[in-house]
Amino acid sequence: MTTLTAAATDTLKSYNPATGELVGEIPATPIGEIDQIVARARAAQPAWRALGADQRAAIIAPAGAQLVARADELGLLLTREMGKPLPEAVGEIKDCGESLDKALREIAEALEPDQLEDDKVTSTIYHDPFGVCAGITPWNFPLMMPHETVIPALMAGNTVVLKPSEETPLIAQAYVDLLNEFLPADVLQIIHGADDQGKALVQSEVDMIAFTGSRATGKHILGSASASLKRVILELGGKDPLVVLDDADIKAAAKFAVDNSFRNAGQVCVSTERIYVDDKIADAFEREVVQLAGDLKTGDGMEDDVNVGPMINDTQRDHVLKQIRAAVNQGAHVAFGGADHPEHFILPTVLTNVTHDMDIMRDETFGPVACIERFTDPDEAIALANDTPYGLGAVVFGGDQQRTAEVARRLDAGMIGINKGCGGASGSPWVGAKQSGFGYHSGKAGHRQFTQPRVVSVRK
Ligand code: NAD
Repeated sequence: MTTLTAAATDTLKSYNPATGELVGEIPATPIGEIDQIVARARAAQPAWRALGADQRAAIIAPAGAQLVARADELGLLLTREMGKPLPEAVGEIKDCGESLDKALREIAEALEPDQLEDDKVTSTIYHDPFGVCAGITPWNFPLMMPHETVIPALMAGNTVVLKPSEETPLIAQAYVDLLNEFLPADVLQIIHGADDQGKALVQSEVDMIAFTGSRATGKHILGSASASLKRVILELGGKDPLVVLDDADIKAAAKFAVDNSFRNAGQVCVSTERIYVDDKIADAFEREVVQLAGDLKTGDGMEDDVNVGPMINDTQRDHVLKQIRAAVNQGAHVAFGGADHPEHFILPTVLTNVTHDMDIMRDETFGPVACIERFTDPDEAIALANDTPYGLGAVVFGGDQQRTAEVARRLDAGMIGINKGCGGASGSPWVGAKQSGFGYHSGKAGHRQFTQPRVVSVRK
C-alpha cells in the first residue's frame, strides 16, 4: 500500500491495507546520502566494538522493558500500517521485548572466544565484528524482522544501517527511535525507501548484508554483493509442505493446517503452502479443515476477534487471486472461500483436488490459501514435498513415532517439525535449505554469522 512519490524530495506514504487510509508519511532517504550515512556508521564502529559484548548488552537491555511498556501503543501503529490483528501485533512487540535479556545473554555467550590446542600449538578463535552491517527487512513481521537482524548485528560489535520495507516504514522508525534512546550516536541508523535505496545500500561500503525477504531479491543482492565479496546472510521465502500420514491425529493435523495456512493472512515465510494427505484419511481431513476455516473471521485487524487481516497491498492480493483462479481453471475444487473477496482482503480459501503442476503448488503464494493434494504412498508424498527449489520449513503429522521421524528426516528443508510447527527449541538456528537461505541466523552458529572468525596461535 505504501507508495513512493516521484518528487525531488521523495516521501514514503504509508497506507492502512485494511482501509486504504493514509497512516503517515516519512521522507525517503536520498540515494546520494547513503554513502555518508554508511561513513558515519563506520566512524562510530571502533568505539562501539571497544565496549565489549557485556557492556553492549547492558546498553541495549533497557530497550526490552520499553518495548513491553509501549507494546499497546506500537501495536496500534503496526496493525494500522501492516494489517495484522491487533493482539498479534501487540504480541510481536511484547515477545521481542520480553525475550531481549535472554537473547543478549545467548549472543554474548556465542561471542566468547574458543580455545583449541594440539600437542604443539594453542589457538584462540575470536569472533570479531565485520564493521558496518546493512540490514534489509520485509514487512510481514515489521518489528520482529528488524529486531532479529539488528540485535545480533549490534551485539557482535557491528554498527548497523537498517533499510526496512517501504510498506512499513513508520513502525520500523518507531523501533529504531526506541533503541536510539539507549544507543550511542550513529551505532544504529535507518534509511527509508524501496528497492533503489536497498540497491544503493548493498553497493555502498558496508561490510556485510543481512537480508530477509523474497528469493528474487535475495538473488539480486547476492549478485551485487559478489563484486566486492561482501558477507551475506539471506533468509528467503518458502513453499512449506505439510505431510499428513494415514495414522495421523486428523483433528490435530487439520488444526495445524488451518492455523498455519491462515496466520497473518498466510503472509508468513513458514506458512503451510502445500498439504499432502494420505488418500485413506483425506475425506475426513478435508472436512475438518473446511469446518475450522469456517470459524475464522476476516476483517480489519483493529476489529475484535478478527483472525485474518488484509493483504499487504494490491499486488500481493492480485498475485494470490491469480494463483487461485489458475488452479481452479486447471481443475482444483474450491472447498471453502475462493470466489468473491472484499476489497483488500482474501477470504481463507481451501482448495482440494490440487495437483503438483499448478503454479499454486510451485511458487510462493504468501496468502491465506490451504491447498490439499492426496497421495497413496508416503514415498510419493516425500518426492512431491521435496520437488521444489525452496527448503525453508516442512512438517509431518503421523501416529507411529518411528515412521513419522523417518519421513521427517527425508524432508529436504532447513527446519522440520513432527506433529508441530517447524520452529526449533530455544537456541536453534533459523535456517533455510536450498534456495530458501544462504547463511542463517539465531542460535550460537547463527549469531556467529555476524562475525569474522580470527585465529591467533602460539607455539606451546
Ligand atoms: P522483498 O524481497 O520484496 O523485499 C524485502 C526488502 O528488500 C524490502 O526492504 C525491499 O525494499 C528490499 N529490496 C527490494 N529489492 C531490493 C534490491 N534489489 N536490493 C536491495 N533491497 C531490495 O520481500 P517482501 O515482499 O518485503 O517480503 C516477503 C518475502 O520475505 C517472502 O518471500 C517471505 O517468504 C520472505 N520472508 C522470509 C523470512 C525468513 O526468515 N526466511 C522471514 C520473513 C519473510
